[in-house]
Amino acid sequence: MSTFLDVYYSLNYSEIEKLIFGASKRDVLYALRKASNGEVIENYFALFSPAADEYLEQMAQLSHAITRRRFGNIIQLYAPLYLSNECANCCAYCGFNRNNNIERITLTVEQIEREAHLLYRQGFRHILLVSGEHRGKLPLETLAEIASRIHRNFSSVSIEVYPMDEDEYAKMISSGVDGLTIYQETYNKNVYETVHPAGPKRDFDWRLAAPDRGGRAGFRKIGIGALLGLSNWRLDGYYTALHARYLTKTYWRSHIQISFPRLRPAEGNFHTPSPVTDRQLVHLICAMRLILPDAGLVLSTREPASLRDHIMPLGITTMSAGSRTEPGGYSNPEGAGKQFEVEDRRSPAEVAESILKHGFDPVWKDWDRTFIH
Ligand code: SF4
Repeated sequence: MSTFLDVYYSLNYSEIEKLIFGASKRDVLYALRKASNGEVIENYFALFSPAADEYLEQMAQLSHAITRRRFGNIIQLYAPLYLSNECANCCAYCGFNRNNNIERITLTVEQIEREAHLLYRQGFRHILLVSGEHRGKLPLETLAEIASRIHRNFSSVSIEVYPMDEDEYAKMISSGVDGLTIYQETYNKNVYETVHPAGPKRDFDWRLAAPDRGGRAGFRKIGIGALLGLSNWRLDGYYTALHARYLTKTYWRSHIQISFPRLRPAEGNFHTPSPVTDRQLVHLICAMRLILPDAGLVLSTREPASLRDHIMPLGITTMSAGSRTEPGGYSNPEGAGKQFEVEDRRSPAEVAESILKHGFDPVWKDWDRTFIH
């Protein structure tokens, strides 16, 4: 069965690097013309090139126009709910790294329901269940039980947990989960192997094919992304776009979303190898919108409030708000170890107010399971 692995391994990473760094202004202008005509951009590598840097203003204007045309004036809100900070992996950049000495906890189903209830009362109807990757601490059956209880109150339940096989994803869907989020972290295999020295996550290919397994199982939403700061953003941007295009075409019933998580300080004091500036983050978001006009683009509370407000009109469709990154953090802040520090510490109501102030409608619910039944 073919997967994105076939596409990935048919390309040579150094050749792609040469293509991106060798793109000319002419290549960029050609891509921009295609985008403004609403046509498919074949040479989208040019939009990630250094030659595109000076066209950022033009890219931003186009990105804004395309997003408004496709999505209207809305920003979808969601909240992450951390279930467990126990993990079998030792990702160098993450606070949940199994080697870090933090307070570990896996919430009980009742504690999770309490956290979910607090989010419900704040207005959220879209929720993302997040966990460290530890099958022993959070078995599939427990996840299914959690989902089947949570989905009664939330119109959309997504998971960001360990990668599963296709049958396991199908079980998640039948338990009420409709969205899958799984980040490749970086598409540079050498860097990937360096920052994932041990644990099941070391298997680059198994992770890379997870969105395919999710697509075949039938998730309504599939979210992908690279962890910005691990490797060169231009290449990770290109490969993310390639991956998203492949998924859009192959699993046309699923809505593809792309997130732009930038590395944040976390327990372990990891040194960011390839920092991404604010301007480069904006460049990435705008390029992605021109290449993928229908994709959901997600910006989380990893970014500061002022930057999120500034980027909001440029292509973003979905934002988290009021996030806690430790299990139990909504009812007992700081009670357990966090995954990373959030930057935008505004409450969900404050974020919604800011969205309104910028001329957009904050949307707490835009879908219901009854649409497909
Ligand atoms: S990034 Fe995910 S898999 Fe890696 S240590 Fe953190 S929680 Fe575990």
